[in-house]
Amino acid sequence: MKMFIQGQPADAQGADTIRVANPATGEIVDSVPKGGREDAKRAIDAASDAFKVWSEKPALERSRTLLKISETVRANVEDLGRTLTLEQGKPLGEAKSEINSFANTCEYYAGLIGRERGAQTPFSTGEGFFIVTKRPLGVVGAILPWNFPVSLMGWKVAPGLAAGDTFVVKPASTTPITDIKVASLMVKAGLPPGAVNVVTGPGGVVGEELLDNPKIAKIAFTGETGTGKRIMEGSSKSIKRLTLELGGSDPMIVCDDADLALAVEGAAWGRFRNCGQSCTSVKRLFLFDSIADEFIRAFVEKVKTIRVGNGLDASTHMGPVHTAEQRGKVEKMVEDAENRGAKDIVKGGRPTDKALQQGTFYAPAVLGGVDYDAMMAKEECFGPALPIFRVKDLEEALERANDTPYGLGSSVWTKDVEKAYHAAERIQAGTTWVNSPPIARAEVPFGGFKQSGFGRELGIEGLDHYYETKSIQFLEYGKGKKWAFPIN
Ligand code: NAD
Repeated sequence: MKMFIQGQPADAQGADTIRVANPATGEIVDSVPKGGREDAKRAIDAASDAFKVWSEKPALERSRTLLKISETVRANVEDLGRTLTLEQGKPLGEAKSEINSFANTCEYYAGLIGRERGAQTPFSTGEGFFIVTKRPLGVVGAILPWNFPVSLMGWKVAPGLAAGDTFVVKPASTTPITDIKVASLMVKAGLPPGAVNVVTGPGGVVGEELLDNPKIAKIAFTGETGTGKRIMEGSSKSIKRLTLELGGSDPMIVCDDADLALAVEGAAWGRFRNCGQSCTSVKRLFLFDSIADEFIRAFVEKVKTIRVGNGLDASTHMGPVHTAEQRGKVEKMVEDAENRGAKDIVKGGRPTDKALQQGTFYAPAVLGGVDYDAMMAKEECFGPALPIFRVKDLEEALERANDTPYGLGSSVWTKDVEKAYHAAERIQAGTTWVNSPPIARAEVPFGGFKQSGFGRELGIEGLDHYYETKSIQFLEYGKGKKWAFPIN
């Protein structure tokens, strides 16, 4: 598959390619060009030219185009979903739901623009008034991770296009294919060529060009906190606008009065969806002592029913870990916790099933008695292994929950509204779900506290991050003091 520049499939200048493998089988799905800086520059120029056209379109036309994109992507959900499963590994149902979420995000922002109301405000000194308007930013570099390659592209391009911006998308090197297909459908749906381009290649080359190039006004980045730090540094050269959606180590707190059956389902959904590779996966589970045994009994039964397999197999609940490297990181964390005295509540690890030997599978692991200094308690555990901690009450749970450099998501499970409110106010995280697993919604702003990033995606706030705010001040003729220099 070729890259996508100026509305056309495009080769890179160099002949090197990147092979995209299916994590379930190790087979090569396809290959993409290993783009370089010159290719990124070409795409940036195309986006820059397209900006002149797209930013001048009336809001109603941008809104209609986004609706048409949404419709076109939905009509192709089968093919896109299958492609996503092949390159990413997630079960087909999850893949199709991700494609539909891209369409939802486009619909949401199509509905927001062209319907705003503003106001003019008199100066406090009474000599005139000001109005505040919004202007599109220009060309945005969208740098994507591999865990939700399509929905996270939507979180960026949908509000950005709504605002009038144009894009160069840099997908993760292991999941570029579905993003290229989506970009091509966007142009088929009526987006001007060049308004969304996809350049494949290493982050340290194509990504760095996006950081260096003065024509890029903003970087919208989702990925690891470590890479986020580099993005911040690189963007400083030309003071680019930034949104950083980074890693998380989300706590889930189950109180003594929670609906335990619901919480068991929530923990399974929260930890094992996408094979535990969501930024807001449940990564630390805190149980009140008084309900811990009962919860764990039911949770173990639930976890044992999870069928690990190829995402294209209809009976699969959980696909492979995305890469061997990623699986290695999970294994290292589990081993580290065990070495520090943790006990296997559910023994995870590489499945012995012959049919799964070519893939990077890892069966769900649940660990108890995990030391608070263990890697999986301190760092982001990005895979299907869950540490359980027992706490005596909510105050201890909150203190432990906040003892992390991250602050992305969190959840509290209780029937007591006061307890829920108290916990939500005190957990240092961008989102607290009450009696719910972590579900992102187009209308709800999403983002991190602390080292989980800054800026917000989704919601009205998400749109705001794709504009510059412009103030226009009017002096009423003949009013106010006479301007004279020097000032007395
Ligand atoms: P990553 O940081 O390794 O890579 C993300 C992207 O950055 C890739 O496209 C990569 O090529 C690019 N990149 C790497 N070095 C670069 C550089 N020097 N300059 C420019 N670009 C560069 O992340 P990943 O492993 O693909 O994704 C998993 C991580 O993403 C996890 O930490 C997860 O929590 C996080 N994540 C966060 C959110 C959120 O909304 N907060 C959502 C999904 C994933």
